[in-house]
Amino acid sequence: MKTDIEIAQEAKALNITEIAKYEGIDEKYIEQYGKDKAKIDYNLLKDLADRPDGKLILVTAITPTPAGEGKTTTSVGLTDGLHKLGKKAACALREPSLGPVFGVKGGAAGGGYAQVVPMEEINLHFTGDFHAIGAANNLMAAIIDNHIFQGNALRIDSKRITWNRVVDMNDRQLRNIVNGLGKRTDGRVREDHYDITVASEIMAVFCLATDIKDLRDRLSRMIVAYNVDNEPITAGDLKAAGAMAALLKDALKPNMVQTLEHTPAFIHGGPFANIAHGCNSVLATKMALKLNDYAVTEAGFGADLGAEKFIDIKCRMTGLRPDCAVVVATVRALKHHGGVAKADLNKPNLEALEKGLPNLLRHVENMTTVFGLPTVVAINRFPFDTEEELKLIEDKCKELGVNVVLSEVWAKGGEGGLALAKEIVRLCESGEGNNFQFAYDVEESIESKLNAIVKNIYRGAGAVLTPEAKKQVQRLTELGFDKLPICMAKTQFSFSDNKNLTGAPESFKITIREIKVSAGAGFLVAKTGDIMTMPGLPKVPASENIDVDENGRITGLF
Ligand code: ADP
Ligand code: MG
Repeated sequence: MKTDIEIAQEAKALNITEIAKYEGIDEKYIEQYGKDKAKIDYNLLKDLADRPDGKLILVTAITPTPAGEGKTTTSVGLTDGLHKLGKKAACALREPSLGPVFGVKGGAAGGGYAQVVPMEEINLHFTGDFHAIGAANNLMAAIIDNHIFQGNALRIDSKRITWNRVVDMNDRQLRNIVNGLGKRTDGRVREDHYDITVASEIMAVFCLATDIKDLRDRLSRMIVAYNVDNEPITAGDLKAAGAMAALLKDALKPNMVQTLEHTPAFIHGGPFANIAHGCNSVLATKMALKLNDYAVTEAGFGADLGAEKFIDIKCRMTGLRPDCAVVVATVRALKHHGGVAKADLNKPNLEALEKGLPNLLRHVENMTTVFGLPTVVAINRFPFDTEEELKLIEDKCKELGVNVVLSEVWAKGGEGGLALAKEIVRLCESGEGNNFQFAYDVEESIESKLNAIVKNIYRGAGAVLTPEAKKQVQRLTELGFDKLPICMAKTQFSFSDNKNLTGAPESFKITIREIKVSAGAGFLVAKTGDIMTMPGLPKVPASENIDVDENGRITGLF
């Protein structure tokens, strides 16, 4: 069996200008990065303002397991399937972060015959967007420390600096550091912290910005510290927004590449899916929608987190409205939810499979009844799946009136996604069953919004706030931040806040330990446990297998 990188390197990519021509993009908007990548100027969207949007398809999934679900693979294959049906289609996906590439094995450019290329470059540096975001973030950090050093006119409390430095690497050594050591002129000694670049609030801001001005306004609103009276100090107060926006002006242009089958793909921005909303940039989604009849996009983690945030944060803020949803499920993951250990997932087990189904059904019900979206389950077929297992899911879903299609895009590319594509076209064209709505009213109190998510989406008994979190809610309400949507930072491995409760757990409570505002992004982050914003490398990092030969060809990247 060929590896993802072998398949990708065999592909004959078209020159990116061919893809742009297919999309009908005027030359003046195309900025080429080599032969097979381009940035597309966001001013194109102004030109196309009057053009109707295509249909928006949200790809989400069941609760993730160590077995891997294949949302990106399905998104890419579905787009190729739509393309094969003769529809003008593109996907909008997240950019991979460097850290995980060298950490745990797992690509972010799709898999098998459903990939975007050039996968090596997309996974490594790409067009430099994340470096630009890192530079803007660290400029902010330098400005804060310099302000304090130069006399601290804003009376920043150095114990209440909320802004961390970032680097796009899994480097646990930097999580907690002491800096400013040395002479008096070397700065003030203080405890400091590094996050991975994708966890920076700038990444969330970048992905929600609707244009460069909105980007600048959002950057300006970011709270970076509190003063000695516990009042927020923003990037705007420190006059940092303009310089940060200047650093980001090119990064903000969506990147265009292609799938193995020459279907256009916009890959742009990649915020964390826990402390942020986990979807690609609004600009990339809008571009895909304006230029195509169908735009396929992916939300991180399972539907309880990814789809909920896509809808309640990204759609609410921007007016985007999905026309239908795909919930990706696999035989292996369902068996895992049915109690099978990772090592035994390749063995047929109908009993465990059936036991795992309630997880899928709960996500589907959320998509159809809570969010009111026409929904189809895509069973992402893996090599070890048996016919009996695939049939069992299909039969059980049909029994319950759940729309289900087998997807074989990993093995067959767009050809294997035709059935799914046809069903998507049917759902979008008929518009039947589309009663789109949000999970909560943003005008309600913070506690009531938290409870709505916990009860209606997770199906738990309610949200419990620690005394500390209650105080934070009170303070945030005083500061006028209570009418913002909620970004839940919860384990992705369970509907509950306990990663070991797989399947469809009931009557659990969700403990909210901390609530903070991401004022630039425009949401409140509710933390339910320790959320890692700077990952570490595993015992055997994936980097050990990565190499480059004398021709500059990369090997071992998945
Ligand atoms: P997600 O977007 O849900 O995180 P990906 O699409 O990135 O998942 O897939 C995760 C990994 O699983 C990738 O390495 C991909 O190649 C692999 N994968 C996905 N679907 C299949 C499949 N049907 N058969 C085998 N491997 C698959
Ligand atoms: Mg993915």
